[in-house]
Amino acid sequence: MQYEVTATRRRPKTFDELAGQEFVSATLTSSLESGRIAHAYLFSGPRGCGKTSAARILARSLNCEKGPTAKPCGVCGSCQEIGRGASMDVIEIDGASNTSVNDVRQIKDEVLFPPNSTRYKVYIIDEVHMLSNSAFNALLKTIEEPPPYIVFIFATTEIHKVPATIKSRCQQFAFRLIPIETIAEILKKICMEMDIEVEDEALFWIARESTGSLRDAYTLFDQVVSFSDGRISASVIKEKLGLVGVDSLNALSIACVENDIAKAFGVIHERLEAGVSIEQFTIDLAGFYHSLLLIKAGITKESLLQNSLERFPEKVLETLNGSQIERALELLLELYRNIRYSLSPRFELESVVSKLCMLDKWVSPLELRATIAQVRSALTASTSVQAPTQQKAASSAVEENSLSAGFKRYIANRSPQQEQTIHPDVERVVRVFRGTIVE
Ligand SMILES: [Zn+2]
Repeated sequence: MQYEVTATRRRPKTFDELAGQEFVSATLTSSLESGRIAHAYLFSGPRGCGKTSAARILARSLNCEKGPTAKPCGVCGSCQEIGRGASMDVIEIDGASNTSVNDVRQIKDEVLFPPNSTRYKVYIIDEVHMLSNSAFNALLKTIEEPPPYIVFIFATTEIHKVPATIKSRCQQFAFRLIPIETIAEILKKICMEMDIEVEDEALFWIARESTGSLRDAYTLFDQVVSFSDGRISASVIKEKLGLVGVDSLNALSIACVENDIAKAFGVIHERLEAGVSIEQFTIDLAGFYHSLLLIKAGITKESLLQNSLERFPEKVLETLNGSQIERALELLLELYRNIRYSLSPRFELESVVSKLCMLDKWVSPLELRATIAQVRSALTASTSVQAPTQQKAASSAVEENSLSAGFKRYIANRSPQQEQTIHPDVERVVRVFRGTIVE
């Protein structure tokens, strides 16, 4: 049997099989069932999420010998021809390479002839936003009043480039990105059909990398199957495609909270030796801290965390607070921007990781401000006990001065007990903050 790529083999043949586009399927099904067939449809949405497939299903639905029906039979002559792309009455045009007004004129001439052997003559124009302005204008009249046997289906990834005059003459359908869980489920089903053993982590990784495009997921899946020898495991994917696994990221982040720079550098060295690029390492590390931040915000959904909750290190989550993790993410995003211009990307990476090793001591400006405010109010309170007349001064400028005076007095008069309760560091912070050296 001839080898067929998964994307072709799994191309949906009915609306039920169209993954992740329930709204589109339901609307098209009900309009077909009630016989309300439009002259022109406009399918918009990201690449690889089923627009062309939906257009072909619609063409089949319209031209099936048992139709028009929302459930084309798939076995009649017409269905088979459309499936093979051999139907004379379903014309697929790539908008990207037929952009001129002459191409559209040809369509205008052709629509005058009724379909050869079926009910409708269907024009599927892909990437319709690539048509020139004059081509759009030439098309306008035809879409508005086509012969009753003509149906146009336009598909585009860039809806904002389609003129409003065209949009308003079409029934519009917005296709969505397909959720990671849905993609992982579909891949799992395929593995079962192909009798391939697979790890969930590997499936999630493929689903995540495809960023909502089923076609991308199929392509990546085919690639992974080709080197997997009947068993798809996350570790093989990592090794063959030069990725950083969650284990390495865990090890690195734990080394960081333990302030163990040597160990953290060891992890970096090991991964880079294994062929992971510094750019990839940074992307994965940033993704990892992003997930930690989401966990801190109380998010547990696997598709958002890009891994199951248990896979993230408890120790790191306990040691670092939200703003420290945010800081880590900030450093890594900056690193990613910097490495392409850097003299030594590896040094940049190591420098950021050494900063990550001190992360547990990092205090955000907001926290610092809150602490200073606390100290300030504590000092003002002590002033009011010792100098009640000064406390009465209403304006804030006077208050500032009184604080400064109060602070001086506090330093001079404090009891040994007070000396212990306020840490010398805090005093220093207050001095720097106020620009006052109290001596
Ligand atoms: Zn049929």
